[in-house]
Amino acid sequence: MSTWDAIVIGAGMGGLVTASQLAQRGAKVLVLEKYLIPGGSAGYFERSGYRFDVGASMIFGFGTQGTTNLLTRALAAVDEKLTTIPDPVQVHYHLPGDQQLRVHRDYGEFISELTQLFPQEKKGIRRFYDECWRVFNCLNSMELLSLEEPRYLLRIFAQKPLACLGLAAYLPWNVGTIARKHIRDPELLNFIDLECYIWSVVPANQTPMINAGMVFSDRHYGGINYPKGGVGQIAQKLADGLAKYGGEIHYQSRVNRIITAQGKAVGVECANGQIHHAKRIISNATRWDTFGHLLPDIPRSEQRWRKWYKPSPSFLSLHLGVRASAIPPGTDCHHVVLNDWAQMEAPYQTLFVSIPTLLDPDLAPEGYHIVHAFTPCWLADWEHLNPREYEQKKEALAGQVIERLLALFPRLDADLDYMEVGTPRTHRRFLGRIQGTYGPMPRRPLPGLLTMPFNRTSIPGLYCVGDSTFPGQGLNAVAFSGFACAHRVATDLGF
Ligand SMILES: Cc1cc2nc3c(=O)[nH]c(=O)nc-3n(C[C@H](O)[C@H](O)[C@H](O)COP(=O)(O)OP(=O)(O)OC[C@H]3O[C@@H](n4cnc5c(N)ncnc54)[C@H](O)[C@@H]3O)c2cc1C
Repeated sequence: MSTWDAIVIGAGMGGLVTASQLAQRGAKVLVLEKYLIPGGSAGYFERSGYRFDVGASMIFGFGTQGTTNLLTRALAAVDEKLTTIPDPVQVHYHLPGDQQLRVHRDYGEFISELTQLFPQEKKGIRRFYDECWRVFNCLNSMELLSLEEPRYLLRIFAQKPLACLGLAAYLPWNVGTIARKHIRDPELLNFIDLECYIWSVVPANQTPMINAGMVFSDRHYGGINYPKGGVGQIAQKLADGLAKYGGEIHYQSRVNRIITAQGKAVGVECANGQIHHAKRIISNATRWDTFGHLLPDIPRSEQRWRKWYKPSPSFLSLHLGVRASAIPPGTDCHHVVLNDWAQMEAPYQTLFVSIPTLLDPDLAPEGYHIVHAFTPCWLADWEHLNPREYEQKKEALAGQVIERLLALFPRLDADLDYMEVGTPRTHRRFLGRIQGTYGPMPRRPLPGLLTMPFNRTSIPGLYCVGDSTFPGQGLNAVAFSGFACAHRVATDLGF
């Protein structure tokens, strides 16, 4: 039995930013992580000399200026820093009809390449993406903390009234409405859908404009930067920083239950029977894994949220090691392949490909590359299979993905050295996420971000952090959620 100021359930990026921020403010913090290492969806694993990123590898938030560089800031707060490698192209799109497009780090270069594909929409393209910049410039001019803290809101409004009003105006809007204000061409609108889908897993009419303002502008401002040593280094450094400030992480510590007393969250019970008490409990598990699992009840506010949002699909992931000759010179790090606009949201259709060794060759043995190819699909498709059926299905679908990769990298099959296939079952098991989900997706078009909950919950003493809280999925977004959560908890604890 021990008492902490705060216990964080889970050492994902949201949990680690919260914990390290709280520790840095002087709170006594314990993080309980069920897995062997920190990072969750931003973790890594090593096989046969390759260091694979579990999921994320297109990293926002490592810029050097402004306020939206939240990964840089989270590390600096605990005296940590990572060497990062700038990626000159955020993503290389392989679009239906054999069209290709690169989203260059340089904004002008990207706009000019897109305009060459849609010359009749020259003005609309510029107006739409410039409107995204307006959102970003508001965000990037203010310190990003808890919107549940009234004194912060008053201070920030006094300091930056125009930026606050600008953001408030965009809060209820989705990208689709803004895009259709400027753009008519149906194929270009399809492309804007894909621009949203690759990180929000929903089309533009369901993607909040605030998130799009961040993504569509920061890729040209702070840029996409890959951490030297792999994405797992971010979590590792945050964990080191947390320890420096007196925090503790216990690995292989699965929390089974949040303990309440008189309706207030006061502690947790781990699978090994250990009980820990704290003044505040913070769950980095998804809201679905928190309410109804860690806590038996699903409060009314959570039932309402579930009517608005459902778990998005998971992924079929191929982690490949290939001889360097498989990757032609000049290849970009990140690719998105779609053969038919109408199939964008269908399972196994939109294909994501990352080759992080093009930025950091040390992740693979000399003369080899890592290729991570993944495509959305549902857990339901992988359940109720016996072990033999499961292996056969993995093999068959991995074969289909390789077939599609051959169109990009014709020598890939011949140069294949290592392959590991992950399914929604793998994501569920190792990441502890319901249905192996990537995160929440709106069930229907909602008013922008207005329906996304902040960190406090209706259970006193219990907070949520991570991708099922404002502002949603992605490493920089969950870092935002972590800053906000730590701010709210620290204020409640009097730090
Ligand atoms: C395939 C894939 C590709 C992606 N690509 C990108 C990308 O390129 N760029 C980007 O920015 N984002 C990307 N993302 C999204 C990004 O990785 C996530 O949004 C983000 O990492 C989620 O962080 P989190 O802290 O909310 O949760 P998680 O990463 O899920 O962390 C939660 C942690 O809590 C632990 N946990 C859960 N339950 C318990 C329990 N009961 N007891 C103890 N511990 C528990 C888990 O083990 C985990 O470590 C990708 C995600 C995937 C899956």
